[in-house]
Amino acid sequence: MTEKLKPCPFCGSKLVSYSRGNIRAPFLFFKCGNFDCGAVVSFDNDVCNIFPEKAIDKWNMRPSKNEEIFGKDLNNTEEARR
Ligand SMILES: [Zn+2]
Repeated sequence: MTEKLKPCPFCGSKLVSYSRGNIRAPFLFFKCGNFDCGAVVSFDNDVCNIFPEKAIDKWNMRPSKNEEIFGKDLNNTEEARR
């Protein structure tokens, strides 16, 4: 199975990995390996927590037109983090 993870959406680091955790229920989370970023992301969705490939699909989701879907702010993440 090829599990190609896109870079961290916050800092662009390619040091992204995923692991399983268990707090009351099993879950799957993605972690950015850039310590200055430290993003940890999980999806509150049973399917994602059971099937890593579904979670990876979500992680790799990158809307091409953020503005239309979520509003303008998401398009400015590059500037916002400076
Ligand atoms: Zn990051």
